[in-house]
Amino acid sequence: MKNNTKSLRDPVCKKKVNPNKAYAKVKYGKEIYYLCCPLCQAEFEKDPDKFINNLKK
Ligand SMILES: [Zn+2]
Repeated sequence: MKNNTKSLRDPVCKKKVNPNKAYAKVKYGKEIYYLCCPLCQAEFEKDPDKFINNLKK
């Protein structure tokens, strides 16, 4: 297993997400994003870049 534990946050609602309990993981670019619920997943997939930029601010 790779030790890849950055702060795992749901990019949509910005809650911390435990990867083991995340509703969904979505690979986008080089990263995997964890989403807490189906709504966040749907929002993320509509416009991933927008939410990724939110997370970086
Ligand atoms: Zn969420």
